[in-house]
Amino acid sequence: AEGLTVRDAVVRYEGTRRDAGTTAVDHVSLDVAVGEIVALLGPSGCGKSSLLRAVAGLEPLAAGTVSFGGQDLVRVPVHRREFGLLFQDGQLFPHRDVGRNVAYGLEMQGVPAAEQRARVAELLEDVGLAGYGRRAVATLSGGEKQRVALARALAPRPRLLLLDEPLSALDRQLREKLAIDVRDTLRSTGTTAVFVTHDHTEAFTVADRVAVMDAGRLLQVDTPDTLRDRP
Ligand code: ADP
Ligand code: ADP
Repeated sequence: AEGLTVRDAVVRYEGTRRDAGTTAVDHVSLDVAVGEIVALLGPSGCGKSSLLRAVAGLEPLAAGTVSFGGQDLVRVPVHRREFGLLFQDGQLFPHRDVGRNVAYGLEMQGVPAAEQRARVAELLEDVGLAGYGRRAVATLSGGEKQRVALARALAPRPRLLLLDEPLSALDRQLREKLAIDVRDTLRSTGTTAVFVTHDHTEAFTVADRVAVMDAGRLLQVDTPDTLRDRP
């Protein structure tokens, strides 16, 4: 099966009378194989989020194509893409306990209750929070909240998970530990993922391959080992 294919993608934001507008993504091409984790790495403002949002269907392409499984996504409505999203602030539902946060997407899919419970327990174990199901969201640390948000995003078994700076609100020590846990969780669930970050260590830890962006352009795509040897 084919994964994600981005070809010559351009994302532009319209200007005003005083400002000419921005080309946030400037003819970027990128492939992500099924089961692969690719990090989009680059400084703030280089276009990482814009590219991710275009893949998610939240931003229109000014040019180029994005396809998944060989199907042009322009023809696939956003709600039919079966992509998961995870942002810096996981935005858990404050009035649902941890288990029912994770179960949310399964409820939406009409998955039977017993299957929901089994899957929720399994996902909480995957993210290192076994037994946390009945906990109130307000009692969790920042890192625990992002783990729950990851479990919730994975619950519906998305064909592609798009993560936008998911660890950036956490302190450095925690980020390093969570980067390893996120990688292990994505691998053990076989999830295809694009992970946006401005942090080299995080990108090198999480990804099978790292796509380096600057000023809207993709500079190189390589394995962490290769990039470490020739920075
Ligand atoms: P990154 O995720 O790498 O920080 P972004 O994709 O957020 O970069 O931004 C790329 C460029 O596009 C920046 O110059 C930013 O100011 C601009 N930009 C992002 N979002 C918008 C928007 N909604 N309207 C106008 N310009 C935007
Ligand atoms: P416990 O873990 O206390 O033995 P359960 O097996 O009922 O209790 O619940 C396991 C997990 O499933 C908990 O996280 C709980 O919040 C969640 N859960 C319970 N009922 C449901 C339901 N109907 N749908 C989805 N998740 C549920």
